[in-house]
Amino acid sequence: MKSYADGNTLRMPDSCQFQAAEREAVLLLCDDQITAFNDAARQLFQASGQQLTTLQHPAQLSPATQPCGKASFEKAELMLAKARAQGRHQFYWLHQRFNGDLFYALVTLTAEDTTESARVQAVVQDLTAQTRHMLDAAMGRLMFSKSHDALMITDSNNLILDVSPAFCQITGYARTETLGKPAGFMRSGVHDQQFYACLWQQLLQTGCWEGEIWDKHRQGHLFPKDLKICAVAGPDGHVMNYLALFSDVTEKIQHKQELEKLAYYDTLTGLPNRALLLETLERKVSTLNQQAGGQHLALAFIDIDNFKAINDTKGHLFGDLLIKAVTARIAALLDQDDFLGRMSGDEFLLIFSASCTLSEVELRLNRILEVLREPFALEDSSQHVNLSIGVSLYPTDGTDCKSLIAKADIAMYHAKKSGGSHVRFYCAEVGAQFFEQSDIELHLAEAISQGAIVPKFQPKIALQHGTISGAEILARWCRQNGDYVAPDKFIPVAEQQRLIHKLSDSLLSQSALCLQQQGITVPITLAFNVSAQQLLDPKFGRDFLALLHHRGLSPQLCEIEITESCLIENFGQAKDCINQLRQQGIKVSIDDFGTGFCSLNYLRSLSVDTIKLDRSFIAELDPQNLNNIIVVKAIIDLAHQLGIRVLAEGVETRSQLHILKTLQCDEVQGFYFAPALAWRDFCQFVSGFDASSIQQLNHNLPHSALAALLADKQ
Ligand code: C2E
Ligand code: CA
Ligand code: CA
Repeated sequence: MKSYADGNTLRMPDSCQFQAAEREAVLLLCDDQITAFNDAARQLFQASGQQLTTLQHPAQLSPATQPCGKASFEKAELMLAKARAQGRHQFYWLHQRFNGDLFYALVTLTAEDTTESARVQAVVQDLTAQTRHMLDAAMGRLMFSKSHDALMITDSNNLILDVSPAFCQITGYARTETLGKPAGFMRSGVHDQQFYACLWQQLLQTGCWEGEIWDKHRQGHLFPKDLKICAVAGPDGHVMNYLALFSDVTEKIQHKQELEKLAYYDTLTGLPNRALLLETLERKVSTLNQQAGGQHLALAFIDIDNFKAINDTKGHLFGDLLIKAVTARIAALLDQDDFLGRMSGDEFLLIFSASCTLSEVELRLNRILEVLREPFALEDSSQHVNLSIGVSLYPTDGTDCKSLIAKADIAMYHAKKSGGSHVRFYCAEVGAQFFEQSDIELHLAEAISQGAIVPKFQPKIALQHGTISGAEILARWCRQNGDYVAPDKFIPVAEQQRLIHKLSDSLLSQSALCLQQQGITVPITLAFNVSAQQLLDPKFGRDFLALLHHRGLSPQLCEIEITESCLIENFGQAKDCINQLRQQGIKVSIDDFGTGFCSLNYLRSLSVDTIKLDRSFIAELDPQNLNNIIVVKAIIDLAHQLGIRVLAEGVETRSQLHILKTLQCDEVQGFYFAPALAWRDFCQFVSGFDASSIQQLNHNLPHSALAALLADKQ
């Protein structure tokens, strides 16, 4: 007799062989009621004794339905009937504890006898733990054989006990080739001893390690893998096995690299893009800032000259090809530690390695210029390319990225201004020029519209009779802040900004107004400077004449001064325009004569009135400098033979004037007489001018050698 909980007594029917062990739950059923149970049963169902004995039917220890879909009540009746009929019946059953938990059990019903009302003993064996174990094992098997991730199990000495099919697929090794080998037999050589030492240290300390590692495939190539290693301890707590789980992450890394490439590299050239350039420079500069000093760094801003024009005329596809070809040539000249990137369009930034000395920087950039001058053979055409390069230096020009880039850019701009194909280092003077230039660019249009750029008049004197023959109109811009801006500075900007027409029109209109306000008794010719951009505009001749007419100026008293560069740019068109204007009575002179490449030969086929001998000849017009006198004399003689008058510019001394008169120069202009004057001052100058001072320049030759030379002129 055994005593059971809650005072119920379970009588073991003599005829029944109860085999349930003490820890198994046992319930006694009489007329479908639980009449007795043991302690294990009460614990299994998480019930009190009373809860068990007051149940109407044992099926109430189950959910409403069994997994097969049948109602638990009906199925339980069936099981009880079978037990009574057969004496014993065993089956799996889904039970429910009083706290709601479900669990699988193996139920063995044993009947007292085979009558319909026989008492039945139920032994309920909880299968939860067993199922879990089975499930784990099944999962393990499934994972091992089917997982895409590779599995490897080693013994405590890290010798391979087994590998999964995925392992073989990823590494290229057959299972039999791996068994018994040390787990590290596929090491790639990418990681050093220190790396593996850290891995083992962590694995032994924490029981696992996780990270990316490069291994060698059976075929020899290296591949990256995401690896997890776990140490598996035996019952004694010592490591029994190591379990490694890994996957090939080549694609993942490639994908990551592609994304990085998109974010950091220029798709056309493959060079680092602006973002990566800025990050790299930032890093380098901040490292230098943290160091003790003494280190320097050179930054070169590289720009292709006239790239926009090439792109516009030859098309964007050609432009792209050119950018690629230029990149390849520059890249081939770089050192390993140089960093070249594309800022935008045709702009590149080159960060030199800190070990590169200044003279090396200069030498290497000049080498780049030189190599780039070789024409590029692209799309059946030969393309010439020049670069302009500006250089700024850390720390001289700045200790932060922004100012270093800005100053390299300014220096580049300066290189362009010097005609391109140059390397320029930044200097404070260049910086000041740049800011002045930017300021002009910003305010020029407004100044022209407001009539802030005014005409001043420089007298021209005819030497034969000592009379004032005309005035050259020179543009003058005095800023509101009192700063004077020289025409050499703003005229090129006006040309760039296509404002030169507007400026010329304004000067002509203002000059006409001056004439109207205060006339002068003698007829004088007004000479207007005309830039190449104007003269080569097919509408120029017509528009100019129309404006003269509109402003009441007589073409016969007008002159245009054009430079040699105008003629060189497009001789045919310039000639047509000159002819058109001369037919209307307008005089034409060639300005700065002798400075360009205009040969005297041009003068044969071009009909002009005057050549204006450049002031560089006049400045050297010194009795000691006979060679210069010979040249000036030759020019004057030749011009005269072609029926062209000669005006000498920049006359500053009486001696120069004297020589010029001796050489039979026709006209002079220069500070010796007057600079460019405001109209009222010009009128005063005209009325006060004493012709006799010129007439008195009778041929008192200043120097005997000169006298000999000029003997034939006497
Ligand atoms: P340019 O046509 O050769 O003008 C003569 C320049 O020589 C003027 O300089 C004048 O002030 C300067 N000059 C005159 N006499 C002497 C002298 O005795 N000694 C020295 N050292 N210089 C003398 P500026 O006014 O600075 O003009 C410079 C240039 O700017 C002009 O050279 C001309 O090419 C251009 N420019 C001036 N006004 C205009 C304009 O209205 N339109 C165009 N297109 N260009 C202009
Ligand atoms: Ca001139
Ligand atoms: Ca001139």
